[in-house]
Amino acid sequence: MPRPAWLVDDWYSIAANWRLSGTALSEGFDDATRLALADQEAAGIDIVCDGEQRRPTHHTYFLSHLDGVDFTTLKPKAMRGRRNTTDVPRVVGPVSVRGHSTTDDFRFLRRLTGKPIKATLPGPSTLVDGSYDEYYGDERALAFAFADALREEIRALAAAGCDIVQLDEPAVSRLPEKLHAWGVEAMDRAFEGVAVTSCVHVCYGYTSRQGGGKKEWKHGYDEILPALAGSRIEQFSLEFAEPKLPAVVLELLPGKTVQLGVINVGSTEIETPAQVAGQLRAALEILPVERIIAAPDCGCVALPRDVARAKLAAMVAGAGTVRAELGARR
Ligand code: ZN
Repeated sequence: MPRPAWLVDDWYSIAANWRLSGTALSEGFDDATRLALADQEAAGIDIVCDGEQRRPTHHTYFLSHLDGVDFTTLKPKAMRGRRNTTDVPRVVGPVSVRGHSTTDDFRFLRRLTGKPIKATLPGPSTLVDGSYDEYYGDERALAFAFADALREEIRALAAAGCDIVQLDEPAVSRLPEKLHAWGVEAMDRAFEGVAVTSCVHVCYGYTSRQGGGKKEWKHGYDEILPALAGSRIEQFSLEFAEPKLPAVVLELLPGKTVQLGVINVGSTEIETPAQVAGQLRAALEILPVERIIAAPDCGCVALPRDVARAKLAAMVAGAGTVRAELGARR
């Protein structure tokens, strides 16, 4: 969910320019989370999240709670195959979880709502891509070390009563050869032996609001989804709205549940409930209803808050239309 302007200056960066500090900042995180939840509940969302209000970026928050990762001296790195570099934290020793920050955030949200909660974490491939390795010397070994750290956090989330955990993997769409080599194995490893519904989100990146929210990369689900179909992950969160992908693409994920992207988060144009319903009906031609979950394509963080609220409300209304049709048919 987008963060309130009173909390942060820029929309997403490793050194977030929080407008508050000390106690005011921790209260600000809590209050922003309350607002993000209230917006989701007002829209009628069934499975809510904390809106990642406390995270400078979706992947550096987890990295900043790992031993073995140094944020004091950053290193420039060309992430996701880009030409330009970004300063990223360095892996300087064996990585392990230092305090269960994501689980603490889950517990805070659990006290505020009776709805099912989805917790999100960055996936191992995205963590490898978003850090500079000076210790493992091998991407596969680093990915597995991150997977083991993730499993520690996922186990704590499950023990705290979390219903579903989603690993966000925007990096795999840009680096499919790594997905085949070790990416799928690493995501399975992160969930191994933990009783929680597993989900992986694969998207193609969005630039800042100032950049017009344009997408960075072209699509290649045809190459990625067959590899993901071979994993033990139960759900996949995929973009279908912005690229206007035909529902037939869903045939590439036999046996999986899909969080079907019906909201384009790269555009401020608000979907109509009829558009959402049309996309869901098309998906129903391919998948049984119990394997389809309506969702935004990706996070709404770069959208203006009123636009995010309106888009979520349209999504719920469209899903409601299709639910009523299915109910009438029974
Ligand atoms: Zn995404």
